[in-house]
Amino acid sequence: MNKPVILVVEDDAPVRNLMSTTLKTHEYKYLTAPTGQDAIMLASSHNPDVVFLDLGLPDMDGIDVIRKIRSWSNMPIIVISARSEDEDKINALDAGADDYLTKPFSVEELLARLRVTIRRLSMMNGDTSADNSVYTNGDLKIDFPARCAFLKGEELKLTPIEFKLLCLLAKNTGKVLTHTYITQNIWGRSWDNDIASLRVFMVSLRKKLEPTPGSPELIQTHVGIGYRMLKVE
Ligand code: CA
Repeated sequence: MNKPVILVVEDDAPVRNLMSTTLKTHEYKYLTAPTGQDAIMLASSHNPDVVFLDLGLPDMDGIDVIRKIRSWSNMPIIVISARSEDEDKINALDAGADDYLTKPFSVEELLARLRVTIRRLSMMNGDTSADNSVYTNGDLKIDFPARCAFLKGEELKLTPIEFKLLCLLAKNTGKVLTHTYITQNIWGRSWDNDIASLRVFMVSLRKKLEPTPGSPELIQTHVGIGYRMLKVE
């Protein structure tokens, strides 16, 4: 991948400057937009690799910026929100954001999220035929066409739902998936009952997958939001 271009959407000048200085110091190319309209324009004209998007913009809601961009592009969007309510993050993730960062954030956190997103991007670019391929992540291996998964070479005994869940998380490695997104994909609906079932399936999947289910290494929980499959180094 060439030097990635990052679009920073933030109306608060000091925060915007902090972000652009950080990106510059780490030799990323970047563009900045202070409004939602500018963001949509730059996203379509420059096709950036990653977007950092503040949700509270002067001219429009950040969620609508996500929906607009999603109507033509899958470019990763990392939401930056001062709103600490889970509801806003969930709405942003459901609208198609890939990850979120809560203000105030540290420069290290910003860079870490960016690295994860870029890694996922290059993984996806290198693997366009995910369904016909074998996925590996640390000790985990998933053979999609054969519909089986292995841990340290041992085949995992997974129920069909657990396997579906594992594949969904694996295909979105590095990305936070909301409870709603997951249940929609697994059961085609998202009722309170489904979210409760999801927790139960996740516990049993982790028992089979994680050496220490109490401190998982592969599947991270975002309390009140959802789950993320981590890329094991
Ligand atoms: Ca703002």
